[in-house]
Amino acid sequence: MVPIIAGNWKMNKDVTESRALVQELLGLVSDTKDRIIIVIPPFTSLSHVSEIIHNTRVKLGAQNMHWARSGAFTGEISGLFLKNIGCEYVVIGHSERRHIMGENDETINKKLKTALDIGLISIFCVGETGEERDKGQTEEVILRQLNKGLEGIENEVHKIILAYEPVWAIGTGKTASPQQAAQIHQFIRSQLRKNTAILYGGSVKPENVDILMAEKDIDGVLVGGASLKPESFARIIRFSTP
Ligand code: PEP
Repeated sequence: MVPIIAGNWKMNKDVTESRALVQELLGLVSDTKDRIIIVIPPFTSLSHVSEIIHNTRVKLGAQNMHWARSGAFTGEISGLFLKNIGCEYVVIGHSERRHIMGENDETINKKLKTALDIGLISIFCVGETGEERDKGQTEEVILRQLNKGLEGIENEVHKIILAYEPVWAIGTGKTASPQQAAQIHQFIRSQLRKNTAILYGGSVKPENVDILMAEKDIDGVLVGGASLKPESFARIIRFSTP
């Protein structure tokens, strides 16, 4: 499986900053082979970044979309609009959307279905909170997120990318150990009807990417903070395993 390295910029980088970031990144990774590189800027920067990465190896993703194709949904964005400006990927069910914006398994399921219908590749995020892990509920929580999120599309899961992102590791500097991550990746894989890429996300940095990517069940990484600096994201893209 070709490793996938995705950078989620979250609500950072205005248009000018986004253009500069992606231009510098291109200069640093244009010779990299055997990697799928995805940048995921905020909505306002998507079309600008899309123009810059056109005909390069860097692909474009969005951070969210609505489940409807169009209509009276003030403030929302259709997946069709995203495709139209060159997005190939969309993050669905990121923990910040689940826990801060109140998204639930049902709306996530609708979004995953729409993304499949319109031909966007979802990066479907699952993961437990620190409290859930402490209570021994990690697998139960992930199982619920998988079962409800993939309801009705279980046989199409090979067209979706999974991302295991323990909530306690996102933006906290705490990373799951490679063994902890691999154990959950194996669990996720055992629950899926078809094989697909499973990314790890949660404080991935240049310092820990090599040991994480050395795990055979980790097919790539979803990176937040460290994707905002071209040198650190480029180093993550250039990971090397022993
Ligand atoms: C993320 O936003 O998906 C993420 C993993 O963030 P960070 O790398 O900053 O923990």
